[in-house]
Amino acid sequence: MPRGRDILLGTLNEDLPASGIAGRTFQETDNRINMKVELHCHTSRYSPCAKSRSEDMMAALIAAGYEAVYITEHDVVWREADINRLQAAFPKIKIFPGIEKTIGGKDSFQHLLILGTVDQNFIHMIDSREILDKARKLGHLTVLAHPFRWRVGANLIYREGLMPDAIECRTASHDAEMAEESTAAAKRFNLRMVNCGDSHSPEFLNRAWIETDRPIVQANDIRQIILDGAYKAMVGQTPDENKPAVD
Ligand SMILES: [Zn+2]
Ligand SMILES: [Zn+2]
Repeated sequence: MPRGRDILLGTLNEDLPASGIAGRTFQETDNRINMKVELHCHTSRYSPCAKSRSEDMMAALIAAGYEAVYITEHDVVWREADINRLQAAFPKIKIFPGIEKTIGGKDSFQHLLILGTVDQNFIHMIDSREILDKARKLGHLTVLAHPFRWRVGANLIYREGLMPDAIECRTASHDAEMAEESTAAAKRFNLRMVNCGDSHSPEFLNRAWIETDRPIVQANDIRQIILDGAYKAMVGQTPDENKPAVD
């Protein structure tokens, strides 16, 4: 199966600079375990904009060769028992919880991924600094989703001066130009950059993802992997890059 292109090594990439922050400490070895990971996934269970049931998404992820997925519904945290139930039904993929939290209010609409959490308290929190502090304290990875999709989508960084652990670069909700803006912002603020499917149905898979040679055993393991740069940001088929695909 084609594994897509590593945008950070630059050899096959025409769109983005070769010197990606995320890839700088990744060691190439011939026999490494490559874990293909979707960090940003919606299902119709809790995200009205998603077209696929969680069971169908898990089956599609497995078929597409993903080894791990973080479920990140809009402002909903799956309950641990429900994640465990889904995990039991799909042992071939590691299923981890998370949330895509709306932050910033009406005039500063942004989406923040909090990966690894089953803490329902995040749903009602409003203050961005408190959200980031709490996530860090609990060991969760924070990723500002599609920061350049909206004019105010990176206000957390530019206006509030608050730093998530990482920002999305390639995602279904970024065109190539927005992805370049992410690259520039990641360099300027020394932030990690990840690629995510922002998957709402199986058609979103194999477009943007990350791979790591470190096993993700616990949900929070992803944070150190990203902070250490022990991953590659990958891109595959992007049939219509100039058209953001989701709400
Ligand atoms: Zn979003
Ligand atoms: Zn999303």
